[in-house]
Amino acid sequence: MTDAFAKPELRDLVRQFTRKEIVPHLDGWERAGEVPRDLHRRAAELGLLGIGFPEEVGGEGGDLLDSIVVTEEIIQSGGSSGLIAALFTHGIALPHIVSSGDRDLIDRFVRPTLRGELIGCLAITEPDGGSDVAGIRTTAKADGDSYIVNGTKLFITSGARADFATTAVRTEEGIKLLVAEGFTVTRTLEKMGWHCSDTAELSFVDVRVPRTHDVGGFHELMRHFAAERLSLAVQCYATAQRCLDLTLAWVRDRHTFGRPLASRQLVRHRLAEMARQVDVARTYVRHTAERVASGEQLVTEVAMAKNTAVAACDHVVDQAVQLHGGLGYLRDTEVERHYRDARIMGIGGGTTEIMNEIIAKQLGV
Ligand SMILES: Cc1cc2nc3c(=O)[nH]c(=O)nc-3n(C[C@H](O)[C@H](O)[C@H](O)COP(=O)(O)OP(=O)(O)OC[C@H]3O[C@@H](n4cnc5c(N)ncnc54)[C@H](O)[C@@H]3O)c2cc1C
Repeated sequence: MTDAFAKPELRDLVRQFTRKEIVPHLDGWERAGEVPRDLHRRAAELGLLGIGFPEEVGGEGGDLLDSIVVTEEIIQSGGSSGLIAALFTHGIALPHIVSSGDRDLIDRFVRPTLRGELIGCLAITEPDGGSDVAGIRTTAKADGDSYIVNGTKLFITSGARADFATTAVRTEEGIKLLVAEGFTVTRTLEKMGWHCSDTAELSFVDVRVPRTHDVGGFHELMRHFAAERLSLAVQCYATAQRCLDLTLAWVRDRHTFGRPLASRQLVRHRLAEMARQVDVARTYVRHTAERVASGEQLVTEVAMAKNTAVAACDHVVDQAVQLHGGLGYLRDTEVERHYRDARIMGIGGGTTEIMNEIIAKQLGV
């Protein structure tokens, strides 16, 4: 059986990029609270930002599986899920614009973003709630050729740096997605993890958005959630794999009571359980991604994939910190960062509970 995820050349390219351009700087970006714009340009030069986007819109071609390989390889080479969130926010900000097929919007927003010149974000969540997407309150009132947008968006990834926001609004015709500029960053939010990924509160006060910037309704919004959830699921098992690798190296080296930790049955069984959970998560997520890439519209399986990977990641990062002892609790120890970064996975892109609601509906209850 051929391995659709082997892609040795792509993996090699991403590994070298990560080791050279990311790993030496990641601690500094974690302290700065954001990644520099220059990183977007360098990633674009290598073609990494355009992977998974068609050449007709300025992308590099490739599909969801190529994007998955990039995510896996960045994290497993010493990057992090926070770095992925910051550098690849366009993965959630652009697809609706691309799907709209609007040439002007593609030229104005998609191409420059894939060249690393612009930064976009996806603004759905509001202070009153994120899970209930249909309940958003930001309004867009039609006024001639424009909409006038008013409201607040909260927890927006890359919002502090964003040049534009693909924004969910309520219009007289129902929920729409508008590509908006001219909003204000009212707060940059401090978080438990994902420190290198800026997260913002955005305010829209009488922001005028041309009606031509309408890139879809509620259906399009929900349709693109599958790719975001799968990406988060990949970040989960890749983070878990990285933590397993780091822990394996550590338990071979670390001696207690005159013997390596790796020689203790308790430790060995913990490692075996970590490896089992990583492998089950990876296998199921990749299988689901292959089905999505081949054109199937999966919602329940994607929800199951996300919850499976989140549970594996939560378990493995916790065990990795425990097996590292005091070192595992120290800032600047890589497993400590992954432990903090991992906590968002069951919250972002639809919480574990909301994924279970999707699964339960499919069960008919
Ligand atoms: C670091 C970070 C980055 C983010 N990036 C973005 C972004 O780029 N764009 C964006 O739009 N949003 C973003 N979000 C927001 C994220 O998607 C929301 O936080 C998430 O969807 C949950 O919404 P909420 O925080 O309003 O929680 P709520 O919806 O208020 O839920 C609170 C709790 O109640 C549970 N709950 C809710 N409804 C039910 C129910 N019916 N049954 C059982 N339990 C329920 C939830 O699972 C959760 O545990 C980000 C959040 C964070 C923290």
